[in-house]
Amino acid sequence: MQPFLKSALCAAALHASTAGAAPQEITPAGSQPATTGSAEYFTGQVQVEPVWPANGEINASGGRVTFSPGARSAWHTHPRGQRLLVTAGVGLTQEWGRPVQEIRAGDVVWCPPGVKHWHGASAHSAMTHLAVTGTTAQGQNVQWLEKVTDAQYQGK
Ligand code: MN
Repeated sequence: MQPFLKSALCAAALHASTAGAAPQEITPAGSQPATTGSAEYFTGQVQVEPVWPANGEINASGGRVTFSPGARSAWHTHPRGQRLLVTAGVGLTQEWGRPVQEIRAGDVVWCPPGVKHWHGASAHSAMTHLAVTGTTAQGQNVQWLEKVTDAQYQGK
């Protein structure tokens, strides 16, 4: 192919791929303030960092959550389910009626819609996970239930 024709075709392809599309967005690291997990929904020290919101194309939000040793969520369900990627430490999770399970950095958890569960740190190690949580058309992504008791947390 002649060099001129080749570059003209490349320019046409580039134009076609970007025409009418919104530009990429970069959210700089550290630009989204962390919040403290509400005592209504969490036990112990929990930091919640927003990562990305749900949007019309990918209808699931991302959040980075860090639990101090012994800290955990309350029992809850997700109407569209949730994926967790453990990014640091050692944690615990439990589905209602099943044993407490240990989760470690690199582990991935899929929680199907409507399954009652909790997640948090282990007793002696902090745990951080990326939570990817599906959102309903009405903007709901969680239904909070009762707190996890110390006996439940200890698997008793
Ligand atoms: Mn959850």
